Amino acid sequence: SAKTSGKNGLCFYTRGMNADAMDRILLENDLRRAIERRELHLHYQPQVDARSGRLVGAEALARWNNRRLGAVSPEVFIPLAEETGLIRPLGEWVLFDACRQGRRWQQQGLALPVAVNLSPAQFHQVDLVQVVQSALAETGLDPALLVLEVTESTVMRDVGEALETLKVLREMGIGLAIDDFGTGYSSLASLKTFPIDTLKIDRSFVRDTPQDANSAAIVSAIIAMAHNLSMKVLAEGVESPGQLEFLRDHGCSVVQGLLFGSPLCSSAFFDYLLQGRPCPQDPESR
Ligand code: C2E
Ligand code: MG
Ligand code: MG
Ligand code: MG
Repeated sequence: SAKTSGKNGLCFYTRGMNADAMDRILLENDLRRAIERRELHLHYQPQVDARSGRLVGAEALARWNNRRLGAVSPEVFIPLAEETGLIRPLGEWVLFDACRQGRRWQQQGLALPVAVNLSPAQFHQVDLVQVVQSALAETGLDPALLVLEVTESTVMRDVGEALETLKVLREMGIGLAIDDFGTGYSSLASLKTFPIDTLKIDRSFVRDTPQDANSAAIVSAIIAMAHNLSMKVLAEGVESPGQLEFLRDHGCSVVQGLLFGSPLCSSAFFDYLLQGRPCPQDPESR
């Protein structure tokens, strides 16, 4: 990398490290302030029935526009929040805001489940269940309209504890999805015992389907496994009609991706609802 190049490699490297550390501190301070000042916002991405094209859910995705850096990716600020403990206030804000939006949709006559991502630290927080309970109680959202997404590595970190937490959430009537499925190391034995509703196939497999035979084989194997475990299966990152066709042919029930809509702010999402959605019935026509 550039850090080790240059005439005086060591000196350059040291300066690079300092700059990185400085950037991190600045970014951490900015993130802390952004959370306090409510400068983050949520976007919502449509999840649609693979056959009918009907809207069946929306995933809440956190967004942060920093005045120095512009849009900072959640792939950057979520891990930073995890490392600095900021995930607690950030995660609570996301949960409350998404539940508030879900409730608004409910009041507008739209019973649309809203999916919220839980980071590993958030999932293993001792009072997670209470936090979820108060988000539902304070917003009045029907628990059946909330879906919590966790990754395989999150639940595999401590299988016993994860199973307890998932059971309680499930008993509350909340939907549970495993995100980015196929990229972690799941014990299939544990997976079978978890009260999970939905497996979300990671977009890295969807991306290369159907042209790459290995990816296509993984996608169809995950769909078959989900069905055998009586779980729904959702494919994320669907961008092309060819991918949709393959997924439908293999029995994937729900799809999400740029083909159906990018993540939108809540007002744009509502406009999208009113305008009607592109119908994915005929993949050839798009
Ligand atoms: P994820 O939960 O797997 O979310 C899906 C990501 O794929 C989102 O990226 C979404 O914008 C992107 N995406 C959707 N459709 C397509 C597509 O057709 N093609 C491609 N290439 N990408 C697509 P985003 O919003 O940048 O979020 C990245 C990750 O950050 C999320 O992955 C999730 O793990 C995490 N994240 C985002 N918001 C939150 C949050 O509120 N809380 C927590 N804990 N994590 C979050
Ligand atoms: Mg997700
Ligand atoms: Mg995912
Ligand atoms: Mg992801």
